[in-house]
Amino acid sequence: MFRFWRACTPEQVAKSTTVQTALMDLSKAELEPFLQRTGTIPMLRKDGNLQVYESQAELKASLPGWKVREAHGIEFHHVDASGMAGIQPGLDARFTHGTFTPGWYSIADPKLYTLALADYFRSQGGILERTNVTALRPVEGGVEVLSEGGEIRRGLQVVLSAGAFSHRIARSLGERIPLETERGYNTTLPADAFDLRTQVTFGGHGFVVTRLSTGIRVGGAVELGGLDLPPNFRRSEAMLKKAKDFLPRLKTQGGTQWFGFRPSLPDSLPAIGRARATPRVIHAFGHGHLGLTQSAGTARLVADLLTGKTPPIDITSLSPQRF
Ligand SMILES: Cc1cc2nc3c(=O)[nH]c(=O)nc-3n(C[C@H](O)[C@H](O)[C@H](O)COP(=O)(O)OP(=O)(O)OC[C@H]3O[C@@H](n4cnc5c(N)ncnc54)[C@H](O)[C@@H]3O)c2cc1C
Repeated sequence: MFRFWRACTPEQVAKSTTVQTALMDLSKAELEPFLQRTGTIPMLRKDGNLQVYESQAELKASLPGWKVREAHGIEFHHVDASGMAGIQPGLDARFTHGTFTPGWYSIADPKLYTLALADYFRSQGGILERTNVTALRPVEGGVEVLSEGGEIRRGLQVVLSAGAFSHRIARSLGERIPLETERGYNTTLPADAFDLRTQVTFGGHGFVVTRLSTGIRVGGAVELGGLDLPPNFRRSEAMLKKAKDFLPRLKTQGGTQWFGFRPSLPDSLPAIGRARATPRVIHAFGHGHLGLTQSAGTARLVADLLTGKTPPIDITSLSPQRF
């Protein structure tokens, strides 16, 4: 990944940034209408995010990023230690500065949200089936979907969105997509583990503490370990230990550990567009750290491709064939 970025020209980096921000803006515009339509709007929270820093120098280093957010109309303010204590009491004194984003979006519980969307899909006549897809095969007038055990389904069009496993299926169409996985870990503690008033991001330490409807989640980390390596939950434990140092009143007992895959491409952009082998297969994967954030925008792009409309943003830079 780093080799890829070093090989990029400034123009390529600027182009990537432009399409990333366009997809973020589209996702923001699409999200609330989507949540309204699907009856999941009560799961949307805007209870803020406090990014904390251990020095004035760390805050200063973050300012270019905040400038970009400002240009996109995101409201935030920088605070000192007493300002932080007013927003989130109980932070360790090592945190001297912070930036608070009051309108930060989060979903009350991502698992319950996904289950609610599945229910909505069924209520609209959608059918959910579980199967392990091994290959896609273009055929006259459609696409065959081959599964483990020899089952074959057939569709007029197929959307390939199998997260970190998508490149394995794309390979059956003759495409080599350099999808990697950034593995992440979390621990969800009982709801009374801490009086958390807002999400707290410990950016310098690569993790966040979030209040879900189902508990307090301590999550983050990036592990480049591929798809097959067993999880190393010492990473969850290390994050939890740090969280206890940073929020001394945090009760760390009774947590549930989890690990998952962030499907990531070398330029940190997703692959959204048609397969080379057939326009009837649409790729939609590789969203890295932003899969939930960019889901509604991605859904708009995919829906437009499926129905032959012109997508609202230029998706050339998201082409699955760009590598
Ligand atoms: C610790 C952690 C924290 C994160 N925090 C955030 C966050 O705060 N905000 C954010 O926006 N994103 C976050 N992400 C990233 C986000 O989870 C991903 O970007 C997102 O889940 C990707 O969505 P997806 O639908 O492409 O893939 P997935 O969510 O992985 O879904 C892929 C689906 O395809 C199925 N599948 C895979 N292979 C096959 C096959 N062969 N046949 C049939 N089905 C198959 C899988 O079972 C799965 O259901 C986080 C990720 C992690 C690990």
